[in-house]
Amino acid sequence: MSLNPKRTVAELKELRALTGDENGAQRVAWTDAWLKARQWFAAKVKELPVEQHYDAAGNNWVTLPGASEKSLLIGGHLDSVPNGGWLDGALNMLAGLEVLRRIAAEFRGLPPLTVRLVDWADEEGARFGRSLLGSSAFAGTHSIEADRGRTDRDGIKLEDALRRCGVEIDKFPEARKGQKNAVAYLELHIEQGPVLERMNLPLGVVLGTKGVERHIITFHGQEAHSGSTPMNARRDALAAAAKLALEIRTIAKKHEDAVCTMGSVKTFPGIVTAVVGRCEVTLDQRDLDANILAQMYREAQEASSRFAAEENCTVNWSRLWNIEPVPFHPHLLDLCEQAVRETSGTSHRMPSGPLHDAAEVSRAGIPTVMMFVQSLKGISHNKIEDTREEHLELSVLALDRLASKTMDWILKQP
Ligand SMILES: [Zn+2]
Repeated sequence: MSLNPKRTVAELKELRALTGDENGAQRVAWTDAWLKARQWFAAKVKELPVEQHYDAAGNNWVTLPGASEKSLLIGGHLDSVPNGGWLDGALNMLAGLEVLRRIAAEFRGLPPLTVRLVDWADEEGARFGRSLLGSSAFAGTHSIEADRGRTDRDGIKLEDALRRCGVEIDKFPEARKGQKNAVAYLELHIEQGPVLERMNLPLGVVLGTKGVERHIITFHGQEAHSGSTPMNARRDALAAAAKLALEIRTIAKKHEDAVCTMGSVKTFPGIVTAVVGRCEVTLDQRDLDANILAQMYREAQEASSRFAAEENCTVNWSRLWNIEPVPFHPHLLDLCEQAVRETSGTSHRMPSGPLHDAAEVSRAGIPTVMMFVQSLKGISHNKIEDTREEHLELSVLALDRLASKTMDWILKQP
């Protein structure tokens, strides 16, 4: 049985029919539709000479034991956002399954090293607002206390939703055991952005996941009557914020792949007859280079002080969240580039703006790389998310090549 990328596309459609509706994919983690998807996947895996188990964080491990205990990991996630797309996370799993089938067949059930396919639990964090839940437990970067009290929209506690699926949050640290013998991790994913389509390339090599700085910035001025306050006597907090909204574009554009976004603006009192006395905005800055990220953060702070002064306002910052950039493994990047080039004739290296489970695996110190396949119109987390079928097939082929190259590389290691 050799690699059959058409089967991957057929299985993706099967999964879509089983767990989607007219609004898109509905495989939200810890719900019945998600459990159904996992059952469906488990049935597929039964045909192979593998061992299957769920770890302490609910990650599903499918292991094809090899002559050596050294393990190549291939991962993805069957969970989706509500009204999600048919490919995000699921392509990784079904392409991984196809690669596993090819390896099992080629080596008659006993490859020279162990190959493990992992379905990470709750990558999306759609229900409880906590992304990368299962992979962070695996990596040991997860804080039980920070997540225990989370609730969904109906007031159901994360802890209770997990228990219903047989997972105890207090046992999460045991998921770290999965790191044993793991020598490399590969993840194929749809790009979820427009870059590859614009360059007319089917596949890309992912350099790493961008670091993120996320802040609330509050400008304080003076609420005043819109009729009686002369223009030169105003302390307009929105004016200062508006200048910053434009300036962050200049700050980001100095660097090739950097992005800065002001996604939310709130004005107080927020009525038509008052000068804005207080304006609260959010800032999200991302880059793969920690120095560039730090520079953009500094520049935005300086600019906010300058604009506050110009408008006779004051400003303060409070950090919502941040994460450092996670660059992938240099040698695996080279192997990935070879695999992409051999499959599609050309290759492009690019960072990932979204975070992925691969970032958590890499943070655990396991050599990691990701491959992207083009997304049509760059749209994801939506029912119109799509990729050309011939590109999906190429991506299975490229992942398979990358898996072979990575196995050879692992076998050469002492
Ligand atoms: Zn995903």
